[in-house]
Amino acid sequence: MSFAQIKGQDEALNVLRSVLQNRPTHSYLFCGPEGVGKKMTALAAAQFLNCPFAGDDACGQCPSCRKIALGEHADVILLEPDGASIKIEQVRPLSTLTALRSFEGGYQVIILNEAHLLTEQAANSLLKILEEPKEKTVFILITSKPEAILSTIRSRCTVINFKGLSATVIVEILGEQAAQAALLANGSVKTAQDILNDPEFFTLRQEVHAFITRLPSLSNAQTVEQCELWKPNKAKAIRILSFVEFWFRDLLIYRLSQNAELLLNKDCLESYQSFTADLDLLSILEKIEQAMSYLRQNVSPQLTLAVCFFKISPLNNFS
Ligand SMILES: [Zn+2]
Repeated sequence: MSFAQIKGQDEALNVLRSVLQNRPTHSYLFCGPEGVGKKMTALAAAQFLNCPFAGDDACGQCPSCRKIALGEHADVILLEPDGASIKIEQVRPLSTLTALRSFEGGYQVIILNEAHLLTEQAANSLLKILEEPKEKTVFILITSKPEAILSTIRSRCTVINFKGLSATVIVEILGEQAAQAALLANGSVKTAQDILNDPEFFTLRQEVHAFITRLPSLSNAQTVEQCELWKPNKAKAIRILSFVEFWFRDLLIYRLSQNAELLLNKDCLESYQSFTADLDLLSILEKIEQAMSYLRQNVSPQLTLAVCFFKISPLNNFS
């Protein structure tokens, strides 16, 4: 869990590391989307502060580093929400704890995950603790909603901004099987994992691919019927259109390059080879993009899908 293991957050890590190396401040606010490595970075910071062999990074091997990785270090506390909030009962004991010297002689590091879920009472209690900083005690507050944190707490913290991860980084973390999920995950490893664990994702993907290969022979009535069958809400319609977009993007790349290695849907190679309809693929991709933007503007999902499929169907070459 050292800094070296955190991917795609070079800027955040550079800022954090320079603060920690020069003069660690008392409290930090890690802001950024869910599932981009904020909690891992907080634990890496705890390792870094406590590792007797730390240079640019913690060693990852010493007893202190190992204990932190296992969640067994007495001076590193990770507080998660208890149900829907972080409660005063969870925060109050921290004042006693931080009044003591650290158990192992290094830094006490107190990490509050999802700090925007602090109740008002808990936040006020935390503020009191932060107002009396102790030497060698570091607070790291983690949040995807910094605006929901008391401004009086925010202003005491060094803010470290984390950004959404690129699809490439998500694939590096989760592996090749996450290639499509990564593109749909808005930069979050957690979202990509949720997509991978959702059985409907793969069923829908199969259905959409089957639908596209039949598209040249479908009547408009049959297209409308399929759109009705999917009963799409906004999120599902975006997912369906993403599958359609990836499929035609692949078809274009395959027609241009004949290189199966460049495909996103490697399992669709045969369909790309046998799909011979002569289509203006660039214009199809543009029409899909346009439909995506309608969906984001909350135009009816079912209608948007049907109109998009009419427009890209070889039967209807109007624009
Ligand atoms: Zn170490």
